[in-house]
Amino acid sequence: MSKMLVTSLVSRTEVKTLSDIVLQFGLENSKLVDGQVTWDLPAGYTCPGAEQCLAKADRKTGKITNGKNQVFRCFKASLEAAFSNVREKVWSNFDSIKGKTVEEMVYLLSAQLPEAQLYRIHTGGDFFSQDYFDAWCAVAGMFPDRVFYAYTKSLPFWVARLDSIPSNLRLTASYGGRHDHLIKEYNLKSALVVNYEEEAQALSLEIDHDDRHAFGAEYVGQSFALLIHGTQTPGTAAADGWNLQKRQDRDAKFAYVSGFLASMASVGAISLTA
Ligand code: SF4
Repeated sequence: MSKMLVTSLVSRTEVKTLSDIVLQFGLENSKLVDGQVTWDLPAGYTCPGAEQCLAKADRKTGKITNGKNQVFRCFKASLEAAFSNVREKVWSNFDSIKGKTVEEMVYLLSAQLPEAQLYRIHTGGDFFSQDYFDAWCAVAGMFPDRVFYAYTKSLPFWVARLDSIPSNLRLTASYGGRHDHLIKEYNLKSALVVNYEEEAQALSLEIDHDDRHAFGAEYVGQSFALLIHGTQTPGTAAADGWNLQKRQDRDAKFAYVSGFLASMASVGAISLTA
């Protein structure tokens, strides 16, 4: 969808109204590229596929509510809970986008997209509707010389557009969502959160430390692992893993990893030899 086409699909009156809306993109310093632009929405509230990670920070107070099946807590929800300016930014973006048509969203996003080579769609939040997913596909298609990437648990929206996603929009399915079965079914590139490097090794997954596996052309189609980080809900396995990681407690770590491998073996994901 060209910029001209988008403008023609949005009436003059609408353009005038949309011109008053200001989106808030972020700019991050990256060792890998000259500036990386980020775009965020409220964590949890815009994540229809979230399950094991689900947490929401109250828009006004920041108080966290955990999803009932939470296994590890969303890092971005914790950040929103801690900083009111982060909450204001993500909610402002959501208020600007929700309820708009695909054309309106494409117009807004493409007209205000800062100049960059690399865009991370959502350090928090997710594709909350098919229209919103389609809008990002269209925006990426308008800038074929730039790279856009996103982790997502909104897998049905991805699967519905398998043949029409531009190659410069690089998607990674995050395990721990409501639609994990689609990852195997459609052979989607995926990321698995692990507590220790040894867990990734047991599954023959490389660990990503800088998002290169998510956006790099050399990693297209290659699944990977991510080490857990951030404040976790007390009493969960993820909290244990995170605390042990911080303390570098070798005995506890050994016990934890042994337990993890045994559980993976019990469901047939790996085999353990004596
Ligand atoms: S899908 Fe992502 S942003 Fe949404 S709750 Fe889970 S980890 Fe947080």
